[in-house]
Amino acid sequence: MNYSDIKFTDMINGKGIRVTLFVSGCSHRCKGCFNKETWNSEYGVPFTKDIQENILEYFERFNSSMKGLSLLGGDPTYHKNVETLKDFCTEFKRRFPKKDIWIWSGFTWEQIITDPKKYELLKLCDVLIDGKFMEELKDVNLKWRGSSNQRVIDVQSTIKNNNE
Ligand code: SF4
Repeated sequence: MNYSDIKFTDMINGKGIRVTLFVSGCSHRCKGCFNKETWNSEYGVPFTKDIQENILEYFERFNSSMKGLSLLGGDPTYHKNVETLKDFCTEFKRRFPKKDIWIWSGFTWEQIITDPKKYELLKLCDVLIDGKFMEELKDVNLKWRGSSNQRVIDVQSTIKNNNE
């Protein structure tokens, strides 16, 4: 998996102070996409174990002020990204069980849960912003999403409610 950027101390993409990872690779080709260069999964540089460890060490160093990790793209649920992010999120939750993970996907909740590999990754997360960006539904007043078709979903409560 390649990534294009890491924002340490990000306060825009999710609640509180976060580390945000922008991964490469996206198949959705939304009209009006603000990040077209990240469609190519080769864009950026490889996400190595050393980079992963840098992020985890950053959380250790600034533990009390950090709220969580945000995964954007590109699309973190792009098929080439899922395994690496699953490993990363598993390790993140093992070391920081009280911190949250927000994930953005061009796929909808319904599409993700029918794909076992993507669903495994989703289950490690706390908040999903789902769906393609739709230019005709663009609204700059929305928080954390670009168009009104996208939803901000509490992952763990939704899984729990669906299983009851
Ligand atoms: S899902 Fe996001 S990165 Fe992918 S094309 Fe749509 S807006 Fe761009």
